[in-house]
Amino acid sequence: MVVLQVKAMERLESMLKETPKAEHHHPEGVGIAMFAFQGGLNSGLEALKAGMAGSVKVQPLLARPTERVGPGVFPGCGLTGGDRVVELRNYTIMVVEDHDFQRRMTLRLLMDLGAEKLMEAANGREALKLLADRGVPVDIILCDLDMPEMDGVEFLRHVAEGQLAQGVAVVSAVEISILNTVETMAKAYGLQVLNSISKPLSLQELKSCLSGFQPQENVKKVYVTHTEFNAEDLRRGLKEREFIAFFQPKVSFQTGEVLGVEALVRWFRPGHGVISPLYFIDHMEHVGLVTPLTEALLTQTCGYLKAWAKLGHTITASVNISMRCLEDVNIADRLHGLVKETGCDPKQIILEVTETEVMMDVAKMLNVLARLRLKGFGLSVDDFGTGYSSLQQLSNVSFTELKIDQSFVKDSPAQSRHRTIIETSLDLARKLKLKTVAEGVETRAEWDLLKSMGCQQAQGYFIADPMPGHQIPDWIQMWQASGETDIAL
Ligand code: C2E
Ligand code: CA
Ligand code: CA
Repeated sequence: MVVLQVKAMERLESMLKETPKAEHHHPEGVGIAMFAFQGGLNSGLEALKAGMAGSVKVQPLLARPTERVGPGVFPGCGLTGGDRVVELRNYTIMVVEDHDFQRRMTLRLLMDLGAEKLMEAANGREALKLLADRGVPVDIILCDLDMPEMDGVEFLRHVAEGQLAQGVAVVSAVEISILNTVETMAKAYGLQVLNSISKPLSLQELKSCLSGFQPQENVKKVYVTHTEFNAEDLRRGLKEREFIAFFQPKVSFQTGEVLGVEALVRWFRPGHGVISPLYFIDHMEHVGLVTPLTEALLTQTCGYLKAWAKLGHTITASVNISMRCLEDVNIADRLHGLVKETGCDPKQIILEVTETEVMMDVAKMLNVLARLRLKGFGLSVDDFGTGYSSLQQLSNVSFTELKIDQSFVKDSPAQSRHRTIIETSLDLARKLKLKTVAEGVETRAEWDLLKSMGCQQAQGYFIADPMPGHQIPDWIQMWQASGETDIAL
């Protein structure tokens, strides 16, 4: 829908003449927002309907309180002005927001700022359809994050992939850490990201957000691949918060209940797409950046734990910790302080330690692990069975969980050697009173087998892929509603 701002009848006729294309692209009509109409909204509408019958469909959008009308407040249609925001009338702006009132409110503020070419949609799907019908990218999309059907992040991914807009701004009531995550993702997909706007929307905030827009000739398409980078790129990426935690659910084999998530880092690198941790963790360890990375991930994770708890989902979160981090004797205090600062409890966090070939001072490592445990963190042996001295580690440190590596889970129904290793691992875990998690569960057959062998928790594509943190509550609901119990029985 196109929204026209009308202050006087005589301007309306000429404006409508200028918008035949809009009518062509938007068969659902041209919305007329009438404000400060002499005689009030209804008489204005009647006049419009009578006068314009047949040429456009007229829909009242909203009435602007007349007491706010005044020079400088409303740039007015077709008016030019020195103020940069008045140039907004040249840009097509789409507002995607499921909440009717909020959407109208946003459109109204945009009109206040002089925007004339406006489109609106109540959800991502509707927006994508409008954009596809339009054929040419819009200039700016203002998008809510929390929407039914298709959430804002998925919508923005489609927008980026289809080059459907030049710039986006997120308008949302979610926490700032979540906003940052989404912004970083949108940037990595090659979108121009304007400052995000909090709710309730203010004219001033909207204005400063939109004034950051830089129109470009072509929107660059970005693919998700691995590229060359150096230590400086990693350092800058950390500073710019380009490393984002995704979360993969862990569920009970017995009941299907969602018990926790594992945080898995992704690098949303502007202009390069999304880079897998497999490409950069080693490099980060090598240049001494893996501890700041862990701290960044832990902070994001705690932010989400709090947000999920508010929605009634009290779960644990696992964070991977490299052995390199354990070389720092102060790490236990630092991680503990960090978790406390966010208002979370270390009991909600499980640190997953993978054995590596790194030669280190074993006594020091055991000391650090023991201190982490004392402070309440759970400790998990990651990739069990693939390391170098698993058994020795297990008996010396009070681990709380054992993760069976996905390489053994894979093909376990067909491979008896894999089954033997799993059986032995589960046996050992039982004796040491460790919880057991099978990672990389991809098929129903693997699920059934691991469950029959007495493994307690499952993680893998069969249950869910790693996903952005804000999607976790919806996923949990969906999982609970559809077949959680089927799968567990
Ligand atoms: P990991 O800790 O063993 O994590 C499991 C990996 O398996 C993840 O890959 C996950 O996306 C993938 N995966 C999950 N389900 C399945 C499945 O059903 N099938 C298969 N084939 N794969 C599955 P991702 O995210 O690429 O992470 C790779 C490794 O990078 C992780 O292995 C972990 O060792 C490391 N890593 C990830 N995030 C961090 C981090 O924040 N800090 C540190 N130090 N290491 C991290
Ligand atoms: Ca792990
Ligand atoms: Ca693994």
